[in-house]
Amino acid sequence: MYKRNCIYLLGVMTLAVVMTACAESANKEGAMNTEQTGTVQQNRVPTEAECKEKADDCHSEAADSALQILVNKTHSLGKDEVPPDLVTVDVPTVLDNPEVNQMKEEAAQALKELFGEAEKSGMKLYARSGYRSYRTQVALFQGYMDKHGEEAANRFSAKAGQSEHQTGLVMDITSDSASLQLSEQFGETDEGRWVSENAHKHGFIIRYPKGKEAITGYIYEPWHLRYLGVDLATKVYESGLTFEEYLVESQKAKSDDSEQGSHTNITLAAAGDIMFHKEQLKSGYDPVTKSYDFKEFFEEVKPIISAADIAIANFETTTGGTETYEYMGYPRFNSPDEVLDSIQDAGFDVMATANNHSLDTGKKGLIRTLEKIKGSGMDSVGTYAKRPGTRVLMKEIKGVKLAFLSYTESTNGLANALSSEDRDSIINIIDEQKIKEDIQYAKDRQADVIIAFVHWGNEYERKPTREQVKWAQLMAEEGVGIILGSHPHVIQRSEQLKLNGNSAFVVYSMGNFISNQRTETLDNEYTEDGIIIHFEIRKNNETNETKIVKVKYIPTWVYRNLDQGQQAFTYRILPIESYADKNRLSEDDKRRMQRSYKDTIAQMNAPVYAN
Ligand SMILES: [Zn+2]
Ligand SMILES: [Zn+2]
Repeated sequence: MYKRNCIYLLGVMTLAVVMTACAESANKEGAMNTEQTGTVQQNRVPTEAECKEKADDCHSEAADSALQILVNKTHSLGKDEVPPDLVTVDVPTVLDNPEVNQMKEEAAQALKELFGEAEKSGMKLYARSGYRSYRTQVALFQGYMDKHGEEAANRFSAKAGQSEHQTGLVMDITSDSASLQLSEQFGETDEGRWVSENAHKHGFIIRYPKGKEAITGYIYEPWHLRYLGVDLATKVYESGLTFEEYLVESQKAKSDDSEQGSHTNITLAAAGDIMFHKEQLKSGYDPVTKSYDFKEFFEEVKPIISAADIAIANFETTTGGTETYEYMGYPRFNSPDEVLDSIQDAGFDVMATANNHSLDTGKKGLIRTLEKIKGSGMDSVGTYAKRPGTRVLMKEIKGVKLAFLSYTESTNGLANALSSEDRDSIINIIDEQKIKEDIQYAKDRQADVIIAFVHWGNEYERKPTREQVKWAQLMAEEGVGIILGSHPHVIQRSEQLKLNGNSAFVVYSMGNFISNQRTETLDNEYTEDGIIIHFEIRKNNETNETKIVKVKYIPTWVYRNLDQGQQAFTYRILPIESYADKNRLSEDDKRRMQRSYKDTIAQMNAPVYAN
């Protein structure tokens, strides 16, 4: 009784709490810990007595909790813990040992479904090692220790009580292509790859992912599947976290929820340069109906962008109409109005319009662009038809006041053709005085968060310039909370600036969200990289204190392909991590997309060196 309670609790509490709670209980063998914290009680499994009263609710809750059990080097099982419902798995197995061919009933059923699904895709999987009793694990670990020494044994095997295999929720699997062995090589086989992308659909996760040894305590084990049920496994898979990290995060989310009454949460999504080169215009054109439609470009990112309460990106072209100019790409951009419909349809709400292409179709084009942005249902910030009452765009979402600012370092010299009045009023050329005035305006209107979108830096440089850092520091010092950079067309690092008692998140460049820039056109693979930065902002309704509680990086990659029989390229912005149809990509595209992901994440986490 005591043990089972302890186990259930493990599954739902944060790691920190778990470790102390269980260590404590273990010392007082047999005594229930009555001084549990509020967090623990909120999530605890009902007692047996409570369950008798309302048996139905309890059963599923208790069963779910049992599935969530956490077993690792700091959370062990007792030597008498034996799952009550072990069954022999009904799938091809490798070993004759009847003990290890068992799993808990529910997990065994799910394994059968997983293997069946694999077979439909032409993959044959084998089960090699499932349930292992405490006693078996004692012998196994002793064997490894004798052969490899304790330290090594600890990295790939577990001491008795610390093995997940004792739960009956685990199966080590393999394939002919991995010679029926448990080796890292399995992860590189077609079978291993298929499993890593599909296991969660049947309730399993790869419990010990690559590069997470410090967290899980185990080397990469592409073969070790842990059953969590479809719901939880899918959540863990989609989070990209290890099971340990996921438990901590979900506990945090739960305690956040319990504070909901006094807080308002909103989300902001930001992306980099939206460009339309000549090749892309061809792709959006339908010669039959003689009309444009670019919605397909955004299809895969639309769910992410439109889920955010507010989304912003840099509109690096103009919709100047065809009266004076034709539709054109680099070096002077003029795009069909339909590009705005597609951007709006993808879920964007605000276009930052101050950039070096704002004046590509002159003042008239700049004004027409603003009209069309408005006509599509979006707001703009950074350029104006005439001197505005304020350069700041204020937006209120669920009672949270956001102030948007936007500036550009360059106009490609095109502002020289404007009158000095226009140069000072219709486009925000970056300027210390203007920045300070705009921030003051936002503060006077009780903005909860001030967000600056800045077009700056050197094209194709992967590091911010001194100027970029200087501007960012000025803004952070004056109270801007989020600084979003664009223009270099490659990703530059992000960092947290703490100046003058203010804290600001800055990303120096978010790269190209969509463009025709890439290896094939510029011999620069980094121009294919983009990112959606997703902010969770929380306002305390009593104190009005507002802070960024979460920043999530969603690296994107621009896919371009000339499909058979087509005259124009197919373009897609792919959210790399969650893109589900990876199998539709060529091996080369998969490799390029993985390269992109790795480099973008590395840039986001790049250490800050003195410039
Ligand atoms: Zn295993
Ligand atoms: Zn630019």
